[in-house]
Amino acid sequence: EEAQWLGERTRLESFCKAWGAEVTARSNYHEVVVEFIPVSLDLEDEWMRRMIESTNNLQQGSIAMARWIKKPELRRSGQQVAHAIFAMRSRSEANRIIGEGILIAGKYLEVRKNLSDPVRCMKCQHYGHIAKECEAVVDTCGRCGGHHPTRDCIAPKDKFFCALCREPGHGAASRSCAVLQKKLRERCERDSERIYRFFVTEEPETW
Ligand SMILES: [Zn+2]
Ligand SMILES: [Zn+2]
Ligand SMILES: [Zn+2]
Repeated sequence: EEAQWLGERTRLESFCKAWGAEVTARSNYHEVVVEFIPVSLDLEDEWMRRMIESTNNLQQGSIAMARWIKKPELRRSGQQVAHAIFAMRSRSEANRIIGEGILIAGKYLEVRKNLSDPVRCMKCQHYGHIAKECEAVVDTCGRCGGHHPTRDCIAPKDKFFCALCREPGHGAASRSCAVLQKKLRERCERDSERIYRFFVTEEPETW
């Protein structure tokens, strides 16, 4: 029983690592999870995405990217349907398909918001609260770390300084900031059961 528990633990840990890397790498798109898509569809194919867009009256190019959650394992397991992440260019279209579903291969599929980042305060740049609730007296810049609102910053890229980890080379909003990485890792470890289940519905041993 101990061995089984340890196996579970390792699995969740490696999941958190993969998940953290994935979340860190993604860009500014509005990501949604589309559930139970037939795995026979080639989502990486641009033409396929344009088809899905026109079927659903979405603007051409609005699905910027689509990728399977754990594609290589799918092929081996003989699974028929799987979840995928769609990176949407516009928030309104992302919200529309969350509300209405998306028609793919003749079926309306459910769409959910992808897990979002922890909240970060636009006034002091720290995670865990929003600007309206901020107790800081002065603004801290999310680019150069100086005492001014981020929108007033005139610092060039090579003068970026992170107000969170106190390192030069990136601003507080950067996805590569060690503070964000640590937050994501901690949250995944804390909520791993839930996050794990969210992404992996079948064949959990493949993680
Ligand atoms: Zn704050
Ligand atoms: Zn600045
Ligand atoms: Zn940083």
